[in-house]
Order: sequence, then structure tokens, then C-alpha cells
Amino acid sequence: MSHQALRARRGRFGVLAVAGAALLLAACAAPAQQAEPPSTSFSPSIVASSAGDPVTVPGLSSATSSSAEAPSPSPESSSAEPDPTPESTPVDAPQDDYTPPAEPPAPAPQEPAQTRDPATEQQPATGGGKIVVIDPGHNGANGSNPDIINALVDAGFGQTKPCNTTGTSTNAGYTEHEFNWGVATRLQSILSARGFDVRMTRNSDDGVGPCVNKRAAFGNDANAAAVVSIHGDGDDAGAQGFYVMTAERAPAGAAMAAQSEALASDMRDALVNAGLSPSNHLGSGGLWQRGDLAGLNLSLRPTVMLEMGNMRNSADAALMSSSQGQQQIAEGIADGVSAYLG
Ligand SMILES: [Zn+2]
Repeated sequence: MSHQALRARRGRFGVLAVAGAALLLAACAAPAQQAEPPSTSFSPSIVASSAGDPVTVPGLSSATSSSAEAPSPSPESSSAEPDPTPESTPVDAPQDDYTPPAEPPAPAPQEPAQTRDPATEQQPATGGGKIVVIDPGHNGANGSNPDIINALVDAGFGQTKPCNTTGTSTNAGYTEHEFNWGVATRLQSILSARGFDVRMTRNSDDGVGPCVNKRAAFGNDANAAAVVSIHGDGDDAGAQGFYVMTAERAPAGAAMAAQSEALASDMRDALVNAGLSPSNHLGSGGLWQRGDLAGLNLSLRPTVMLEMGNMRNSADAALMSSSQGQQQIAEGIADGVSAYLG
């Protein structure tokens, strides 16, 4: 597409993005408690209502971190977002379940990805032990622990947000946290086999949190070479495709922001090569800068947050609910990481 066409499209996307953002917020993110001077293209009302689901940090218990904050007076998290986990019985203690992995997963023995399409096959890169942090959004017992996940935490640039949210789901009830976990564990296997040192911000899908600020700190503390946060969107049924989000403002300076943009660009290209389509609704060409996501605002490392599809769109939902679809998505993400760090 020509630059002019792209620009024109961008304009359209800008309008759509505003409308879409409101829906997105309703579906996938909890509203920010404190609207902050919106930076760019977001209207204040949208910023206020769009809290994404960001990334988090290690080590701390969210209960601890949130205790200092005034808990949100109104548990709003449920207002717009369908609670995808009505059935989930809390397995974990009602507390942020994050425990730092004792040691990084041992690199798996070299093995080719089973379902890779030869047409899109890429030579496995040598990870060289570079640290990649994978952040699977949300968690399985978030919905049954509102007191924990609704507590406000720092979201960067003067904003606060709920510790975490429940995420969205398909119309058939397949939850976003399960999708995120399925893709993350597949991605972990692929990247480990390529020689990367892979760390996960949560190590099960039946716990609570960790809070978004802790997820961000996790990547900072690990001095990650790349941080990839995985989510699925819950938008209008007609919206379809993935988008890659980066921080609108530069929390760690222009040079690091440029690294995040390079990671985002490589990621978008790799996802397209893997047969996935950029969003027809949000962002521009599969890329979108956001000012309201703690996982981006608080990260000091090259970081992208991925919305890998719209779980309310039938085609995306079918892809995202299937094992093959999750493998395809994980391979695309892995190729994006490899391209960036290769
Ligand atoms: Zn999400």
C-alpha cells in the first residue's frame, strides 16, 4: 500500500480506534481509575475507560503491593467485562500467586516445531541465552478474587489501574486467560528450543495476578532482551485480526522506545508471515501505540503487548480456541522475537 493510502487509512483508523478503544476497554481492560492527561490520539474519556491489561512484576505479592493503595471503592471491573470464569474454583490461596521461577526452564532439546508450515519456515535462530520474558495476560482465578485484582496499582505516568482484570472470552466461553496461557507455553517451548532463556511472569493458569505493575517489573528485573505480553481482545464481532502495542510515551528514553518499535515491527512482519492478519479495526497496519497500559508504561526494556485476535469474532475465535491455531500464533511470535534478537 502506498504511503498516501496508508496515511488515509490511518486517519480512518484513528476514528475507528477511538470507537474501538471504548469497546476494547469494556471488554478486555479495566478502566483506569485516574484519567491522565491523554497523550495523543486518545480522548480523555477513552483513556479513562481503557485500562489495558498490562504486565507485571516479580516477587511481590499483589496483596502486599496493593495494601498500601486505597482499594477501589467500587468494584467496577465487572461492569463492562464479561466475567469469563464463572466456574473457576479458586485453586490458589487468595493471593497473588506469583513465585519467581527457581531457575529458567532448561532449553529443550532441539526439535522442529511440529505444525510449522514449510512455506513460512524460518531457520531457527540461536537464542544465545538471551532473556525473553513472556507475560501471559490475566490468570484463571482472577474472577473469583475481586478484592485482589481490583486493588489499584501504579500504571505509570501518574495513572493507576486495577491490579489485574479477568480478561475476555469467546462467545462459546473459551477464556482469554486460557488462550494466553496456551500460546505462552507453546512459545516458551519454541524459544527454549532456539536457545533463548525464557522466563514467564506467571507459572500456572489457575492462580491470581500478578498485578500489572509487577509483571512490568519482572521484565525490568530480569534485564530482558525482549518482553512479550500476550492477550486476546473482546471487540465488535466484525473486528478481526491482531495488533501489536507499544508505549506511546518513552518510559526509558528514546533509544529504548526505538528498540520497542523495532521489536513491534519485526513482530508484525513475522505474524503476517505466519499467516495471521493485522486488525481491520484497531491500530494501523497491525501496530498501535497506547498511553494507558501499565505493562508498557512501566517497562524499561524492549516490550510489546499483543492482542492476538478478537475473541468475539467467529473466525478469530475458532483460530484462538484451537490447539493448531495457538501453535500457529506461538510460532509467529517466536519468529518475531528471533527476527528482533537474531
Ligand atoms: Zn487481556
